[in-house]
Amino acid sequence: MANRKYIVGNWKMNGLRTELTDIADIAAIAGQNKQVDVAICPPVTLITQAAANSPGFTIGAQDCHYAKNGAHTGCLSATMIREAGAIMTILGHSERRADQHESDAEVKAKAEAAHAAGLGAIICVGETEEERDAGKAVDVVCGQLEGSFPDGADPHWLTIAYEPVWAIGTGRVPEASDVEEMHAAIRHKLGKLMDEGADTVRILYGGSMNGGNAAELLAVPNVDGGLVGGASLTAEKFGPIIEAAAAS
Ligand code: PEP
Repeated sequence: MANRKYIVGNWKMNGLRTELTDIADIAAIAGQNKQVDVAICPPVTLITQAAANSPGFTIGAQDCHYAKNGAHTGCLSATMIREAGAIMTILGHSERRADQHESDAEVKAKAEAAHAAGLGAIICVGETEEERDAGKAVDVVCGQLEGSFPDGADPHWLTIAYEPVWAIGTGRVPEASDVEEMHAAIRHKLGKLMDEGADTVRILYGGSMNGGNAAELLAVPNVDGGLVGGASLTAEKFGPIIEAAAAS
């Protein structure tokens, strides 16, 4: 697999204008590690300024609506996000699937809307602890992937993130063998869902990745990068992950 590693920071509902300096610092580290693709997905309120401050550095969003426009109070279309300066968006994060009750069908529609607006998409999938304990993790994740999978998917704009729900923000990380099993299952499923290109769709791991465990996780077969929450908020924490990807 010749995929370039892709390290993406998900800032969630964190970041005011004073934190734009952190994005600039992270962009500078990305500039020193050009063999890795790096992105930060700040709150929408920071997208335009972050993109303007760091030309050439990838700024993404954390969601978009599936409709082009209309009566959807408080929502943002993919075109609005693109116009703001993002070039990709995270979709179907487990926090949105839980808090906003997003279904697989909605995530699929959002991914298609993102692509139509010229945005790349990272579709998140992942099992709960109960599902893993019940031995259903692979079935659940492959089912989510199938249900969320956009028409016309292409490795140039689509990325998948495997994020076990129980590992997000908890400091717990699956065994490398479990990550390997899941990423292989996702790769296999992509082969069934796509006529071509399944081998080069990047599959990120997400869930408590940090500077101490990134090298091990990024060495797992079919792990093409990381989706990082808490450890992406400062250059001090995110830099070592980018550097681990560069060395992998
Ligand atoms: C996430 O929410 O996408 C995530 C991976 O969070 P954390 O790194 O904080 O576990």
